[in-house]
Amino acid sequence: MNKLFFTEEHDLFRENFRAFLEKEVRPHIEQWEADREVPRSIYKRFGEMGFMGVTYPEKYGGMGLDTFFAVVYTEEMIRMNSSGFNTSIGAHAGLALAHINGEGSEAQKEKYLTAGLKGELIGCLAITEPEAGSDVAALKTKAVKNGDHYVINGSKTFISNGVLSDYIIAAVRTGDKGAQGISMMIIERDRQGVSASKLKKLGWHASDTGEIAFDNVKVPVENLLGEENQGFFYIMQHFVSERLAMALIAVSQAQLAIDLALEYMAQREVFGRPISKFQVLRHRIAQMLAEVTSSKAFVYTLYKQYHEGEYIIKEAAMAKLITTQLSDKVTYECMRIFGGYGYMEEYPMARLLRDSQLGTIGGGTSEVLCEIIAKMTIDTKQYKAAIKH
Ligand SMILES: Cc1cc2nc3c(=O)[nH]c(=O)nc-3n(C[C@H](O)[C@H](O)[C@H](O)COP(=O)(O)OP(=O)(O)OC[C@H]3O[C@@H](n4cnc5c(N)ncnc54)[C@H](O)[C@@H]3O)c2cc1C
Repeated sequence: MNKLFFTEEHDLFRENFRAFLEKEVRPHIEQWEADREVPRSIYKRFGEMGFMGVTYPEKYGGMGLDTFFAVVYTEEMIRMNSSGFNTSIGAHAGLALAHINGEGSEAQKEKYLTAGLKGELIGCLAITEPEAGSDVAALKTKAVKNGDHYVINGSKTFISNGVLSDYIIAAVRTGDKGAQGISMMIIERDRQGVSASKLKKLGWHASDTGEIAFDNVKVPVENLLGEENQGFFYIMQHFVSERLAMALIAVSQAQLAIDLALEYMAQREVFGRPISKFQVLRHRIAQMLAEVTSSKAFVYTLYKQYHEGEYIIKEAAMAKLITTQLSDKVTYECMRIFGGYGYMEEYPMARLLRDSQLGTIGGGTSEVLCEIIAKMTIDTKQYKAAIKH
């Protein structure tokens, strides 16, 4: 199947990127998991190597590579077995920079995309609020225009890179209630009235997840990202690539769980023989592998459609829906193959299992994705792309 989607250049990139990760990331993962964050130096290192978002335009320091390099990139990141680490890089390079690249003015791109791709300025994307998660249109953080600036009041929660980032791309209310009155705003961390604190959580330990408060924060009108009151539509559009990425992460996690289980099965002996000889485990692996391989084919196909410019909002929702559930199932079953060792922190499965659980929640819960699929299928609702790249 891989030959249908990947060329020799993709394979070479995989080899180089894997070598970089093995040398400069793998040895530090345990420490970063314990620290509950990654150091700023790793962003710099990614930037120096050109690994901060491989598809961004060369003009701003990106590699300008095609979508399947990004697929290779994500698959290799997941092999490090730390969604916290992957999210620390991804919330900046995949979320914050995607909004800058998509809707930013030339001046904003010059500043944030250029420094962001060097790993010098780190961003986060803050949409969720204590009372507005799935229902994005209910968000309340208010930005009131006053001459040449906005005054922002409100709060955000569950924000990846919410404490360590240098700037926040925040969804704020600039207009009436509902989807029509939302705008995106760049809010620098050092502005007076911005404060943040870290949250404790089940998994994604190497990722800093924060709560952010805005107390009469003044930002110049130039910090508006894109057009006023178009924020909701930008968010929905970016959800397509975010959900596709989350689907890819999910199948990659499931594949990693199977690979680790196979390794363990070959060396663990019980009742005088390797557990890989027990038919029940062999069939369990075979079943999971069949499900993961077919899901991967679906995800790769969607990446191809996305690469060709199709607006695959429904299909991306479907992919995230099935793959995140599959990842939860496979990581759980593979954890059990390790017996008691599966439950131990010294072995890889405990982290993989807990990290997988966020898949069905972040970037649109499974229930919300079903709503989208149902509306588009049963009510024949159509969504149009807000931005043309
Ligand atoms: C570790 C972590 C990192 C995150 N990072 C970010 C980030 O970087 N930026 C950001 O903006 N957000 C981030 N989030 C937030 C995440 O996107 C939200 O948690 C998610 O969208 C769900 O919102 P909620 O938590 O408010 O749940 P709610 O919306 O309160 O949902 C509660 C329950 O109700 C269900 N539900 C909701 N609506 C419907 C419906 N119409 N029909 C049926 N059931 C429904 C949900 O599926 C869920 O089971 C992060 C969250 C976590 C946990």
